[in-house]
Amino acid sequence: MMQFATAPRPIRRILVANRGEIACRIMRTCRRLGLGTVAVYSDADADALHVRQADVAQRIGLPAATASYLNVAALIAAARDSGADAVHPGYGFLSENSAFARACEKAGLVFIGPTADVIAAMGSKIAAKKIADAAGVPTVPGYLGDDQTVERLGDEAKRIGFPLLIKASAGGGGRGMRRVDGIEEFAEALQSARAEARSSFGDDDVLLEKLVLHPRHIEVQLIGDSKGTLVHLFERDCSVQRKNQKVFEEAPAPNLSDVVRTKLYDRALRLGRAIGYTSAGTVEFVMEAGSDEPLFLEMNTRLQVEHPVTESITGIDLVEWQIRVAAGLALPASQADIRARGHAIEARIATERPDRAFQPATGRIIGLKTPRGARFDTGVDEGSEIGLHYDSMVAKLIAHGENRETAVANLSKALAETVVLGVATNIGLLRDVVARPAFLRGRVTTDFLEAEFPGGWAPDAASVRELRGLAAIRWARCNVRADASPWLRRSGFRVMGERRAAQAELLVRDDGSETAVIVGVDARGYRALFDDGHCVAWNEGTASSVQEDRIVVALNGLMLDAHVCFATDEDKSSGVEAVSDNILTAPLPGIVAALFADAGASVAKGDSLAQIEAMKLVHTLKAPIDGRIGRIHVAIGDTVPAGAALIEIVPQEE
Ligand code: ADP
Ligand code: ADP
Ligand code: MG
Repeated sequence: MMQFATAPRPIRRILVANRGEIACRIMRTCRRLGLGTVAVYSDADADALHVRQADVAQRIGLPAATASYLNVAALIAAARDSGADAVHPGYGFLSENSAFARACEKAGLVFIGPTADVIAAMGSKIAAKKIADAAGVPTVPGYLGDDQTVERLGDEAKRIGFPLLIKASAGGGGRGMRRVDGIEEFAEALQSARAEARSSFGDDDVLLEKLVLHPRHIEVQLIGDSKGTLVHLFERDCSVQRKNQKVFEEAPAPNLSDVVRTKLYDRALRLGRAIGYTSAGTVEFVMEAGSDEPLFLEMNTRLQVEHPVTESITGIDLVEWQIRVAAGLALPASQADIRARGHAIEARIATERPDRAFQPATGRIIGLKTPRGARFDTGVDEGSEIGLHYDSMVAKLIAHGENRETAVANLSKALAETVVLGVATNIGLLRDVVARPAFLRGRVTTDFLEAEFPGGWAPDAASVRELRGLAAIRWARCNVRADASPWLRRSGFRVMGERRAAQAELLVRDDGSETAVIVGVDARGYRALFDDGHCVAWNEGTASSVQEDRIVVALNGLMLDAHVCFATDEDKSSGVEAVSDNILTAPLPGIVAALFADAGASVAKGDSLAQIEAMKLVHTLKAPIDGRIGRIHVAIGDTVPAGAALIEIVPQEE
């Protein structure tokens, strides 16, 4: 504490302008350093973990990020009101917003990050690549020009050759990016990339880039102080990606020659020096598998989601170092003092349905079991409500080992131990990934997930069946009376024979499917029997929760959220209703972000009628048939469940 209070730019109390796991993680370091913490929250987060962990908390607005976590004026006011003298922006939200950095400095607050000018320069991928070119750092070839006309961009595309990428210059998080395989696709891809860029970043300038086939994503962590010292903290490999967003990250990068490693560090440092970089930042490269030329992609001028893998191999607390340099102090170590030990891998845990095209999953977390033997950074706990307003990443699991093999084994074990009950997550997919031979060999390129799970990922059928059996057993156990024969309740039971063995016919309903299970109990315990004779016994490792007829069970990274009842109690009307083409329904839960339809207007099949936003992703819904708009059931801003009727379409008369 003393060293920061008496530093050139004194820091005593830090406002964390973020939420979720990163807000909790930053405050953890603050507490260790004896620094005060201020949390900010939107109305959706009043009870969130980061709010409870802070010394004080300030409300900053409504749930929509634009009204709260992206609201510069509200954040500056919160800092002033709470007596904070510094602001840590985390990642995402305003972390790479130069106007926010400037507003902090103007309000007399230390912004824990690089200077506003550097943020602005690197915030434009076009400007950043020009700076890299000038500094002699090789970049992915493409077009960076000011002439943004369709004609010129089309000509440049032909010159570069296909396949290529159109990228939003202001882009981030994999958004505003389109792959184009031939000139005939170009105009439409350009239009949609621009539309996404405009709505996400308020800037629709694009650059063109040759698509690197089978690339690895490798990045270098930098940190610099205001005295001119800039060091690298080695590299991270983030090649396991979905839709250009990272899923696994590790350090060091596997199967990398010393020649490439040296090039990576040299190039990252050269760029960092060219812009006088201060604070923590990451220089990202792509490299064609088998090549030895890392090509600059972009620089992220903030703490990265995956910074813990670097912390894990170096023993450095990156947030502490960020605070130090922001306070005007020198880096506590020189390049020669910084060593890496062992191997670390991170997996991002998200509330989503990897078996259903990664639809966002929402609801209340009714149980959470954190693994031993791995770092678990999270922003949620039991009782947390997962809504649709923010990112779906709820936790990160970081495992370390003396070498890659042990790190992978530790991660795999930790994933199997982690339980999130009540809201679907991608843990099952993460577990399958770490078991794949290509992953085990460290031979991964960014197309890995698509190549390994060509038709999409699904949990293996045997495990799902086991979970159904476990759910049935769990339900049956709850309906046992301690004082009497187990199956006294209602009419669904039959007592079998004189040894008081009993069985009941149950129905397990999950996800629109219905499975008949016979649960039997005898001296050896409970067993679930399926139609085909398959039998499941209770597994002591099962995590479970019971809320009346809702049974949630989890085992080995997979969760099942089911309703169980006696087969005789079956509600005959419960079948899924046929959905008519005449009604546009929500394909996933979300918030109605836009409506392009007016009642009475005529529409053609394929016309965009509405946009649904969920966890920062925008889905455009199109007319399923030709016709006229009938009733519109929703308004902009409404939250709708999956399957909700949105817009009626009266079919075209013949
Ligand atoms: P990394 O994951 O390597 O840290 P990303 O560019 O994927 O870097 O972004 C980190 C986080 O910030 C992700 O949650 C991403 O969705 C979010 N993010 C990135 N850019 C923006 C932006 N402009 N607005 C809001 N969130 C963003
Ligand atoms: P963002 O700001 O969204 O993170 P990046 O430029 O860093 O955008 O690209 C994100 C990801 O997209 C990269 O990690 C990589 O997987 C892929 N990608 C980007 N540019 C290329 C390229 N030229 N060729 C192949 N893949 C690319
Ligand atoms: Mg990137």
